[in-house]
Amino acid sequence: MEEDRRGDQTFDGPQPYNYEPKRWERRQGNGLGDRGRNDGQRREVELWSLNNAWRIGQNSWCSCGHCEAMPSAEESMCCRELEAYWSLVQQLVPFSNLSCLTQHPGFDACCLNPFSLQVAYLAFRQEYGPLQASRPE
Ligand SMILES: [Zn+2]
Ligand SMILES: [Zn+2]
Repeated sequence: MEEDRRGDQTFDGPQPYNYEPKRWERRQGNGLGDRGRNDGQRREVELWSLNNAWRIGQNSWCSCGHCEAMPSAEESMCCRELEAYWSLVQQLVPFSNLSCLTQHPGFDACCLNPFSLQVAYLAFRQEYGPLQASRPE
């Protein structure tokens, strides 16, 4: 893939493709660092998934009324369970009495638009590295 082509570039200032995997390859050279942090977060997610396997296939965990039963624990989380997400609804000006994050006026543009998602994923990958190989990217 692309990383092989650009892997031998050296960083000497602003460059195009600055968010491509070459940065990930440089990290591998200096031992643990961000790689260790990344693995730790993955373990945390795996542990959470194990402890929350009861969520799979039903939606009793939903308090917004819009969540559906999902095939994995990671996908089985309500918009109201995460303060960081639900506060986006609560901070809307003018205040709207919405019941679900999906009714937020910015939801379609930020969470459904494929180009916005691509940008978000590139930012995620720069920060945390690629998603696990077992998942389609
Ligand atoms: Zn919900
Ligand atoms: Zn919701």
